Amino acid sequence: MAVSELGQGWYVIDLEFQMIPQVIATYVHRGDQGVTIVDTGPSSTIPTLLAGLAELEIPDEAVRQLVLTHIHLDHGGATGTLLSRFTKARVFVHPVGAPHLIDPSRLLASAARIYGTQMEQLWGEVRPCPAERVTVVEDGETIALGQGRQLRALATPGHASHHHAFLDTESGFVFAGDVAGIRIGGQPFVFPPTPPPDLDLGQWRRSIERLRALRPTLLCLGHFGAVHDCDWHFDDLLARLFLWAGWIGAQLELGVDAARIAERLQELTDEELRLISGEGASLPAYRWASGSYRMTVDGYVRYFRTHRPLASGL
Ligand SMILES: [Zn+2]
Repeated sequence: MAVSELGQGWYVIDLEFQMIPQVIATYVHRGDQGVTIVDTGPSSTIPTLLAGLAELEIPDEAVRQLVLTHIHLDHGGATGTLLSRFTKARVFVHPVGAPHLIDPSRLLASAARIYGTQMEQLWGEVRPCPAERVTVVEDGETIALGQGRQLRALATPGHASHHHAFLDTESGFVFAGDVAGIRIGGQPFVFPPTPPPDLDLGQWRRSIERLRALRPTLLCLGHFGAVHDCDWHFDDLLARLFLWAGWIGAQLELGVDAARIAERLQELTDEELRLISGEGASLPAYRWASGSYRMTVDGYVRYFRTHRPLASGL
């Protein structure tokens, strides 16, 4: 089922990234003044997004607002292409993210360093967004959803410095992008996505507590779907974020190289996920959603290099 109803006018579309279910989610709200989409996903999944909107009987001209939690390609890569299709839509983004939507060349160059020849297959074409259709959203500002309802932007750095979560102030739903981690199919395992260069453990911890204090009625994850048990979820994310920091830090002190640490982290994590999920059915989705274990380890390596000693960053 590609489209599910969450209630309060909200739907989630499974973009079926790389043909795998429950890797990347797009959230859609139908209001009386048009449709709002939170995180477009990458260009490679535009056909699935459009199929989901068709299933909801949403015509192109009804889409008015594209709201991005952050500009990583798995969350906002399709935005430029979609703006030329959704001619009445504007994009709403963090001030630091906005210039990279208007000119994505630096974003693409850094993604190309990580993904190399796989760029096209993974993400598809990334088109620039016309500057006049980009609206910068500052922390605390709101975006109207219709019927007097609104989304409030919450600066939530840690995974990315330019990350916003969004609170639907009426329903209490929180759209968390990547700051609430990766959790597939409600499994009791929250994976911290920790890519370089922005990983910041201290900021991330404060962002989690900011979201927790809102007491969300539903926590809507970019990867993947909506969860209710927010306190448990935040605790598991925090615990693993810092457990991995300690373990990776110890390995580095022992002189183990990042490639070997990534291999070992994958072995340990796969083992744990197999225990949790029986046959390990959610393993591929966790792997695709997190990028790669090498990226996860590299994020910590860079963080340690720039935040020494570790305690000063907490
Ligand atoms: Zn992501």
